Amino acid sequence: MDKETEVVRASVKTRLRRGLRFLRTRARELKMIGKALVSTKHPILVHVIPMRQCNLACTYCNEFDDFSKPVPLEEMKKRLDLLADMGTSIITISGGEPLMHPDLDEVIRHMRRRGMIAGLITNGFYLNRERIERLNEAGLEHLQISIDNVVPDEVSKKSLKTLDGRLLMLSQYAVFQVNINSVLGSGVKDPEDALKIAHRAVELGFTSTVGIIHDNNGQLKPLGPHEQEIFEEVMALGKRSFSRFNEFQHNVARGKEHNWRCRSGSRYLYICEDGLVHWCSQQRGYPGIPLAQYTPEMREREYSTQKFCAARCTVSCVQQVGILDNWRDPQNLKPMPMTPPAAPQAELVQIGQVRGDS
Ligand code: SF4
Ligand code: SF4
Repeated sequence: MDKETEVVRASVKTRLRRGLRFLRTRARELKMIGKALVSTKHPILVHVIPMRQCNLACTYCNEFDDFSKPVPLEEMKKRLDLLADMGTSIITISGGEPLMHPDLDEVIRHMRRRGMIAGLITNGFYLNRERIERLNEAGLEHLQISIDNVVPDEVSKKSLKTLDGRLLMLSQYAVFQVNINSVLGSGVKDPEDALKIAHRAVELGFTSTVGIIHDNNGQLKPLGPHEQEIFEEVMALGKRSFSRFNEFQHNVARGKEHNWRCRSGSRYLYICEDGLVHWCSQQRGYPGIPLAQYTPEMREREYSTQKFCAARCTVSCVQQVGILDNWRDPQNLKPMPMTPPAAPQAELVQIGQVRGDS
């Protein structure tokens, strides 16, 4: 049988554990939505970076290096404790490649101990049966892999061909939920790849999402008619998870500006490997304040701050978080420096292309 059409059934025990973890996670997600609707005072989703180093070097990516050391476990725990004390609902570990972190299982365990929903974004290359079972034991609830193409090329090795064996292992052994993200837009050689990737994801029992990338100038560009058709098809395939709450993506696909309130710096936080808070992976450098010094007043200010990049934003996870507050509290403040004394203030960096793992 061709490997990329092979489907392996998980054991009865794994399917039972998977069903149970799914129900528990779904119950916690519903509670997270209720809590977010009742109060605007806590972060809903936080991305943390325990490891900037990556084993790959996708040519479009500027979220990795090939030398940095892992953030020590004790430091990671301190950051997680600060986030838990803020009332954070979900933490997603991103990178670089987080599976290169030697204490990743303990980081996940600590997230769960502190009552937060635990997610992980990985390129998947380090997954094997033993690693998947360790992630099961640590209590992981969501895992996402971005796949860029069907066969590897000079831009990206994250292809269906290189990863299909690992996807099969996930379908057989993982008790956490798996989402496969594909991409469409400028720089993607064959738009049909996104459809093939999404079909394979669904065939293996995973959810699927599709991301749309900017052109090289960081501007939204409408997808061509054929790409739009593929986009709608992939979106229809992905209607099984909370990621279906992504109607704004239709605007992105048509290159239309969208009207929403980005609550980054408040309801969504991006914590880099140095422990600084940033708006998101594309707007690193602002506010650039150490997490330990990031006060509730600062979060409150960011909640009401209008983001200049919102109309053309393609960061789907922050937009999904935004849905919970879009109906209330118009934003009327302008971004302003909030650096506490002695904290470093890096320059605002706007990254043109969104085609990383998140
Ligand atoms: S996109 Fe992901 S896998 Fe590729 S270099 Fe960046 S962090 Fe590594
Ligand atoms: S790029 Fe998007 S998510 Fe990031 S700060 Fe701007 S509007 Fe918010």
